[in-house]
Amino acid sequence: MICNEYVISYIRNTIRKNEGILAEMEKYAAENYVPIVEPEVARLLCVLCRLAKPLRVLEVGTAIGYSAIMIARSIGPDGRVDTIERSDSMADKALEYIRAAGQEEKIRIIRGEAADVLNFLDKSYDMIFLDAAKGQYNEFFPECRRLLKPGGLLISDNVLYKGMVASEDLVKKKHKTLVYKMREYLETICNSDEFDTSILPVGDGVALSYRLK
Ligand code: SAM
Repeated sequence: MICNEYVISYIRNTIRKNEGILAEMEKYAAENYVPIVEPEVARLLCVLCRLAKPLRVLEVGTAIGYSAIMIARSIGPDGRVDTIERSDSMADKALEYIRAAGQEEKIRIIRGEAADVLNFLDKSYDMIFLDAAKGQYNEFFPECRRLLKPGGLLISDNVLYKGMVASEDLVKKKHKTLVYKMREYLETICNSDEFDTSILPVGDGVALSYRLK
């Protein structure tokens, strides 16, 4: 946790419990150690979708489809979500849940390595949610830049990585490379003339980058 536990606990208590399929997915994720967005990040995503009203959303990192379903439910009826996943078993489970949630018209799972898939995509998007392979964000960024429309929003999750990105004292040896890569990524998005970026200490750290031009 990157914030005081009592703050997180207070915020989580303000969040209404999900019911139905989302509650079922939370249980499945907890029992099977599937990393899904934290409740406060899920809330942030929903509010951003309501505000930005994106028509086309790209997600990198589907897992079981939890955030994809949340996004699909928070965008308008014409909105569509493309979501990339390299693990077939995750993608199969996601498809099951997406069908059970009645969102198969809105969500398309694209199976494969994100770097390859991003490379062949040619549609442009109003919103991109990066939530996979933290060590590859630098590699994904040029493609996200190409695919994101001016006025679009790039949302990058886990950018503070358990606080290690913000403090050398916290960096464990085995995570050094990842932490340095993430700092490099944050430097890129924070210093780009094409983006206005804000880093929020929400969940594991979320960067919001608005594409100016
Ligand atoms: N966004 C999901 C949610 O909150 O419901 C959680 C995504 S989980 C943190 C990350 C997922 O990205 C995993 O299912 C993993 O298999 C997938 N992944 C990681 N690196 C990837 C890559 N390079 N290409 C495609 N998928 C990747």
